[in-house]
Amino acid sequence: MLPPETRSRILGAVDDAFDAQVEFTRALIAEPSLRGAERSVQDLLHAAMEERGLSVDRWTLNIDDLRDHPGFGPVTVSYENADNIVGSYTPATVHGRSLIINGHVDVVPTGPEAQWSRSPWEPAIVDGWLYGRGSGDMKAGHAAGLFAFDAVRAAGFQPTAPIHIQSVVEEESTGNGSLSALLRGYTADAAVILEPEENMLVRANVGVIWFRVRVAGRPTHPREMSTGFNAIDAAYAVIAELRQLEERWNATRFEHPHFGDLDHPINFNIGGITGGDWPSSVPAWCEVDVRASFFPGISADTAWAEIEDCLQQAAGRPELAGSVPTAERTGFYSEGYVLDPASDAEKVLAAAHKESVGAPLETFTTPGYLDARVFSLYGDMPALVYGPRSEAIHGYDERVDLESVRAVTKTIALFIAEWCGIEERDV
Ligand SMILES: [Zn+2]
Repeated sequence: MLPPETRSRILGAVDDAFDAQVEFTRALIAEPSLRGAERSVQDLLHAAMEERGLSVDRWTLNIDDLRDHPGFGPVTVSYENADNIVGSYTPATVHGRSLIINGHVDVVPTGPEAQWSRSPWEPAIVDGWLYGRGSGDMKAGHAAGLFAFDAVRAAGFQPTAPIHIQSVVEEESTGNGSLSALLRGYTADAAVILEPEENMLVRANVGVIWFRVRVAGRPTHPREMSTGFNAIDAAYAVIAELRQLEERWNATRFEHPHFGDLDHPINFNIGGITGGDWPSSVPAWCEVDVRASFFPGISADTAWAEIEDCLQQAAGRPELAGSVPTAERTGFYSEGYVLDPASDAEKVLAAAHKESVGAPLETFTTPGYLDARVFSLYGDMPALVYGPRSEAIHGYDERVDLESVRAVTKTIALFIAEWCGIEERDV
């Protein structure tokens, strides 16, 4: 355990730089880093890492390097602008445990901007909340990792183990960004991801699959509508069949540790629907985009096989007239995970959290996707997902609570010092 004087120097350094941290976070939010447009925000992070003297590795994701990995998510967009960045700190002397601090820069679509109180790309602070798309998910956390690292050094210390600060893309659609960093060779004794987790640690999360179902209809003139068959009506029947599978999976939640207390942990989201050519033809086609989830411990292949069976079943419904819907995978093909409660990393985080927040670290289960699965399932690293309080992530007026960002930054600064070890900095 670090001496109290050391800890208070580090905590003070977080406070001293907090205004600069908020400014940097605002600059990140002002870059609309939607999928396929992450390059400008990565430029900011690249410069920030260089300013700190980190050695920067930047590369564009290459699907050919990833596609044979079991955790790869199929890609439907160009990776032309999909750059990952890792800033590495190499200590003068090594006698601690190495660390990866991972954050993603991609943000989700805004929806109709008129529904926001102000532009999602104009960060504003109101009553202690910082607003903007990506504020909570997860630019505040991403900046917190960098400034936590700064605080240790500003307090007059230097870490005594390697630290890799990763800035990745594709967390919201495939998880291929973190996967690419792992396959490039980045590993450590622990990984920390500062996602918006209500000042708690994630104990378990679900696996996620994205897919697109296509239903073929038989087009006719509506005057003889009964001789055709309507692909959009049929798509509703397919959705009804998928809802039944969702309920069957939810019914097994008591068999999955950490999920029994949740009402409805498995959620199939119908995220998009397109079909038909115009009003005066019975539609010949309809496509439905789906995000499905499944419990940890179940392989993605098993979940996918059940989904395909379900689509086969749907063909038996009268609305489909025997036509079998087809499905292709369009993104995430990721398994869930449970964080082992016995790791030293968790103990160090819990102690750091207790000091910065003044209360014990709580854990919880989140029914969403997290890049932590890359580290835990394929890199054999404890991956701690922990971060600030937020509201309306993926919704309108997304916001993050700045005091909780400050507390999280303090936790991570103490965590770095304790986990990696520190020595007085050479001046
Ligand atoms: Zn996120």
